[in-house]
Amino acid sequence: MITLSFHGAAGTVTGSKYLLTVNNRSILVDCGMFQGSRQLRQRNWRKMPFRASTVSAVIATHSHIDHIGAIPRLVREGFSGQVFATPPTADIGQVSLMDSAYLMEEDAAYRNRKKLTRHKVALPLFSREDAIKAIELFCPTEPGRWTAIGSEFRFRFHIAGHILGAMSVEVELNDRGRKTSILFSGDIGRYAVPLVSDPAEPPETNYLVCESTYGSDVHPPEDPFFMLASVLDDVLKHKSVLLIPAFAVGRTQQIVYMINTLTRQGRIKPIDVHIDSPMAIKATNIYRKYPDYHTIDLSAIGDDDDFLGGPNVHIHRDRASSKALNKLKGPAVIISASGMMTGGRIMHHLIHRLPDRKTTLALVGFMAQGTLGRKVEDGEKLVYIHKMPVKVRARVMKLGGLSGHADYYEIGHWLEKVEKRPKRVFITHGEPDESKAMAAYLKEQKGWACTIPVLDQTIELDTDGAQADEKSHQG
Ligand SMILES: [Zn+2]
Repeated sequence: MITLSFHGAAGTVTGSKYLLTVNNRSILVDCGMFQGSRQLRQRNWRKMPFRASTVSAVIATHSHIDHIGAIPRLVREGFSGQVFATPPTADIGQVSLMDSAYLMEEDAAYRNRKKLTRHKVALPLFSREDAIKAIELFCPTEPGRWTAIGSEFRFRFHIAGHILGAMSVEVELNDRGRKTSILFSGDIGRYAVPLVSDPAEPPETNYLVCESTYGSDVHPPEDPFFMLASVLDDVLKHKSVLLIPAFAVGRTQQIVYMINTLTRQGRIKPIDVHIDSPMAIKATNIYRKYPDYHTIDLSAIGDDDDFLGGPNVHIHRDRASSKALNKLKGPAVIISASGMMTGGRIMHHLIHRLPDRKTTLALVGFMAQGTLGRKVEDGEKLVYIHKMPVKVRARVMKLGGLSGHADYYEIGHWLEKVEKRPKRVFITHGEPDESKAMAAYLKEQKGWACTIPVLDQTIELDTDGAQADEKSHQG
């Protein structure tokens, strides 16, 4: 019997965790952390709803923490198999997991010091030691090639765009000769985005698990360079500070690359860019290491022409230098994590700058329900950070064109060439209204039957062999 269980990203955007089981053998596609409301975050502390020691392997679609952030807990519960990921995902994953562990350790220490915890002692969800044990299991795997996991599973990666190294995963399952196949979209990126590859054409499969982050939204049609240039013009004119919450890997390099391009082309005056992250240098080096995974022709750029650095780009590694940025006067850009404003150094910048009318806060990524990022995006004028009230007087704007996620129309484009109707499409990785809208869109456009699974639901998958068997019985 072949089953698929949805232990995350079902009815919500985060916590991706799909368990595929053939008889008594199982593998996980993604093993991510829940983010957002307290209720969701509490799930991260519970035991996995399956035995971690019996999972043969994890296949990681990409390095975002909502896709890999639960691997350290899985290891702590007894998982010791391989974690298959592309080489950039493995490298960025190492940065993400160590950075998350470090920030959670710092946050727990801060809460204990300031007595901000409702528990006896605040603890990190996982420590740097846990993260290292998880990182040791990573097995770099190139896209396009089949890899077997026992005799029950084999998989291959297909480029998904989204961020450096991100993939969709095609899995073939074999139950003693009875076979089926399933494609997990992963997070699908947009087309023609600076520094990110386009998603590759997906293969035809029997089942599809499709994300629906922007299941009811279409991104603005403006050129992202034009949008960014007009914001920067304004910042330069008013000598204000542009604050951008973004993770150190991916969006940060994209923004720096775009600002450098606009400056080089003379479309904006030079402006200082401050990257406030201990991980920024490592992150930038990963882009240099994997030219095949992004769209910048490094050979066309001279050694002096630093596409992710330059005289106006300043990196702040230690805490003191990060805090010193509070005295910074504009015009300037500050980029700091976390992207959804759920922790990390962005918090002290927000406490300091949200009440300031001379600050522009640009939201470039998806903000999950229940996060501080979503509250600010929704226009709340008073928010609480570390239990302190903070007034929002800064100008808040969305740069939707820089989103890392395809909207529903772009997902439709991604699936355009797929002619064979999947037996069933599972819509995941979206808030309920977004998933419903995506299901309705695929039904209308392609006539595909869609199911929106609920958390921890298990579904039995048919095999081609099973149908053949039935026919032979009839014959
Ligand atoms: Zn992602």
